[in-house]
Amino acid sequence: MNLQPSAISESIKRILETLPAGVILLAAAKTRSLEEVQTVIQAGVTHIGYNYIQESIPIIQVVGSQANWHMIGHLQTNKAKTAVELFNMIETIDSWRLAQTIDRHCADIGKVMPVLVEINSGREANKTGVLPHEVDDLIAQVSTLKNIRVEGLMTMGPRFGDPEESRPYFKATREIFERLSARSYPNIKMQYLSMGMSNSYPIAIQEGANIIRIGNKIFGER
Ligand SMILES: *Cc1c(COP(=O)(O)O)cnc(C)c1O
Repeated sequence: MNLQPSAISESIKRILETLPAGVILLAAAKTRSLEEVQTVIQAGVTHIGYNYIQESIPIIQVVGSQANWHMIGHLQTNKAKTAVELFNMIETIDSWRLAQTIDRHCADIGKVMPVLVEINSGREANKTGVLPHEVDDLIAQVSTLKNIRVEGLMTMGPRFGDPEESRPYFKATREIFERLSARSYPNIKMQYLSMGMSNSYPIAIQEGANIIRIGNKIFGER
């Protein structure tokens, strides 16, 4: 069920009105059409997220630098080259191998890629992201790479009917963020905490999120 452009603009306006200064609204655009993506940009959204490289290519080719493009899905190393060419931020670094691959492709084209490390805050077996106790080692490794700059953390967290149940996972991720912020690694500037989706973003913001990733609440149910 696609919403009319006016309904999409209206939902964006309502969300933006409630956001504290400094919180970035990212539109999670999986399965949405080029027209829907253009509508959100016209309504003032400047950050768009994609889960799949294949799906993002035709959209980014048309829309280009009118938006900042975030990779928010799991990235396979064999897609890293294309991701490096297309995206402004990769939010889903979860292994040393992936980080090295991205770094190498960035070096080839003279780019420094801002990235977030994805935390599997719910320690869920079927989810991507690094486990909370693995973050420090990964960050220390990635800090040695010249063409990647870690700018923060991202988490999904387990999905609940009652978003209040997400709070402990957001809180735990923020604590990791603060702990890492207090260190001084080279090439690392902890400034973004990407967490919260349609049902949970108000709670994520209370727990310190400054990038929220919203799909359904902008575009309508998929
Ligand atoms: C789809 C998606 C979102 C947005 O989810 P909604 O419930 O539609 O707001 C956020 N983050 C990621 C990684 C997603 O895949």
